Formats: sequence, structure tokens, C-alpha cells
Amino acid sequence: AQRSGDYPVIVEELSKKYGDKTIFNAASFSISRGEKVSFVGRNGEGKSTMIKSILGEIDYEGSCTIGHNVQIGYFAQNQASLLDPDLTIFQTVDMVAKGDMRTQVKNILGRFMFKGDEIDKKVSVLSGGEKTRLAMVKLLLEPVNLLILDEPTNHLDLKSKDVLKDALKAFDGTLILVSHDRDFLQGLSQKVFEFKDQRVIEHFETID
Ligand code: ATP
Ligand code: MG
Repeated sequence: AQRSGDYPVIVEELSKKYGDKTIFNAASFSISRGEKVSFVGRNGEGKSTMIKSILGEIDYEGSCTIGHNVQIGYFAQNQASLLDPDLTIFQTVDMVAKGDMRTQVKNILGRFMFKGDEIDKKVSVLSGGEKTRLAMVKLLLEPVNLLILDEPTNHLDLKSKDVLKDALKAFDGTLILVSHDRDFLQGLSQKVFEFKDQRVIEHFETID
């Protein structure tokens, strides 16, 4: 048997239905500690459903095991809309930063292109891409060792995607990226899990 300490995520024989529709039929895979993987596949093949199963947000048959000491940071498809509109950019991320991270807040905001007076702007006036960048900064300041990002590049321009990609390359935990953005995954994802026909197929290189 696999030891959960070496595997932050182990999915065994997972089956899931919504009404009469089967989404997964005994899907199995595991993700090793420190591995950066992507979930790819057509719309509706079950990528977000798998994420919700791993997070324990929905019920299913079979098992999803999260390893000991795994601290999850999650970026949902609507994550940016969950930010508090009444806080400023600085307040949004300052409240999650702890200890050493507090001194880095302005630094990380700068890296994600929030500079100078801009950090006193309210979340309510930010653009879609700006909100996504801010949600990312917040997540990267949290003490997590498993990051699960569901379509993080949706609202991002090329420059913002590069900034995020660099930050994720530097992240030393385990990463699960759900994305249709082939360019973004290139050089970032070390292993590809293809969602197809109610199963999950493991590939060791980017697929077409
Ligand atoms: P996308 O690439 O478009 O984000 P996905 O692979 O993430 O797609 P899911 O969101 O996991 O797909 O949805 C898988 C299937 O399950 C879809 O056909 C969807 O309509 C269906 N589904 C998802 N959530 C529910 C629900 N709560 N009730 C009924 N059906 C659902
Ligand atoms: Mg999805």
C-alpha cells in the first residue's frame, strides 16, 4: 500500500454520479510530495468535480486520502469574487501574512504588479485580472504545502501569467493545476492527468 506521508493525495477507485450521469467510474491516481501536476481534459469531464472530492466538499464512492500534515490552499474558479470588496489591496493580503511573511507583503504585492499608492485601492474597483492576481498573492502568503488551482489564468494577460508561472515554479510544495492553457502549463507541469471517459489517465509529458 502507498504511504500517505509520501503522497499528499491518493485517490482510489473513486466513482461519482450526478443523478443518472456517471462522472467517474473507479478512477485512481496518486500525487507525490513536491510534484507539480496538471489536470486536463474537455469541458465537463470532471476536473472540478475531482477537486471538490479531494477537498471533501462533495460525496462520492471509493476513497480520497489527504496525507498527514498537508495544508491545502485552494483557488476555486470563482475565487476572485470571494474577496472582501470593502478592504484595500494591502489589507486583503496583510491579514493573512504571519510572522516572517509580514515583512514580505509589499514585496510580493510588487512582484504581482501592485505598486506604490495602488495598494490602498479598494477591491471593489479592481478589474477581473487584478482581483485574480490579488487572490493569488493572498494564497501564496498562506502557510500551505499543497496548492490546488482551478483555472487560475482565466482573467490574466500574458505578463500576469508569466508572473504567476514564476511564482508557482518557485513554490516548493505540491501543486495541482487545472487548466486549458497549454502555454501556461508548458515547463510548469511535470506530469499530466488526462480526464477522459470517466477515468483519469496519467501521462509523463504534455499531451495534445
Ligand atoms: P470545465 O473544463 O468546463 O471546467 P470540468 O472538467 O471541471 O469542466 P466539472 O465541473 O467537474 O467539469 O463537471 C463535470 C460534469 O458534472 C458536467 O457535465 C457538469 O454539468 C456536471 N455537474 C457538475 N456539478 C454538478 C452538480 N452539482 N449537479 C449536477 N451535475 C453537475
Ligand atoms: Mg472545471
